[in-house]
Amino acid sequence: MSEQMNNNVPATQPEFAQPDKALYSPNKKGPLGKLLAPIAGFGVTFTTIFRPTVTEQYPYIKVPVRPRYHGLHRLNRYADGLEKCIGCELCAWACPADAIYVEAAANTPQEQYSPGERYGRVYQINYLRCIFCGYCIQACPTRALTMSNDFEIAGQHREEMIYEKQDLLVPLAQGMLNTPHPMVQGTSDADYYKGRVTGPTETQVEWVRSVRPGDESLENVVVTGNELEGAGAQ
Ligand code: SF4
Ligand code: SF4
Repeated sequence: MSEQMNNNVPATQPEFAQPDKALYSPNKKGPLGKLLAPIAGFGVTFTTIFRPTVTEQYPYIKVPVRPRYHGLHRLNRYADGLEKCIGCELCAWACPADAIYVEAAANTPQEQYSPGERYGRVYQINYLRCIFCGYCIQACPTRALTMSNDFEIAGQHREEMIYEKQDLLVPLAQGMLNTPHPMVQGTSDADYYKGRVTGPTETQVEWVRSVRPGDESLENVVVTGNELEGAGAQ
């Protein structure tokens, strides 16, 4: 076996081009360079002393991050308060770190959380795994999932780093109606995606008032939406 291997070795090794030695030689210093060489390193220190201080006083003063910074995720709502997440799990499939867990459930006439058939009943992001790549928000078909500029994601225990749906869902904006409640009358989920729903309607407010008279969002709800009779057919 060894003889056979030796027979396969070429008698002469091929010549490889040698790199230019000048590229790897130390710089040649003149007399002045040699004289100042021992203190040359202090030059950086002295010039830095006279520059403005760049120490950030965090957490007392928070320096704004770039607008497209990838921070804490947010689950968004439509203008009438319905959730944009439809529980499709595309974000979880797109995640390279397997950091997202979604469980969908069916919307019913009495419990409608999002436009269409399904909503995200369970939504978790494990921030011990997340690498903030943003693949999940690109995969989301309804723009339900976006990333905010919030970078303060810390916890004392591993369990605290798994954010649940209630931690990620944006609070109701001014004038929105708390879920669950029916979709705007005469609309389909496509009308929601296309931005045709501009706010809660009188019918939705009446529905919530009859089913949950003590709902806190009823105090501040503002009727800004219109019933879109027939729009859902488009
Ligand atoms: S940002 Fe990247 S790693 Fe984090 S949950 Fe989204 S897809 Fe996964
Ligand atoms: S956040 Fe978007 S991609 Fe993820 S389950 Fe909800 S709708 Fe689907």
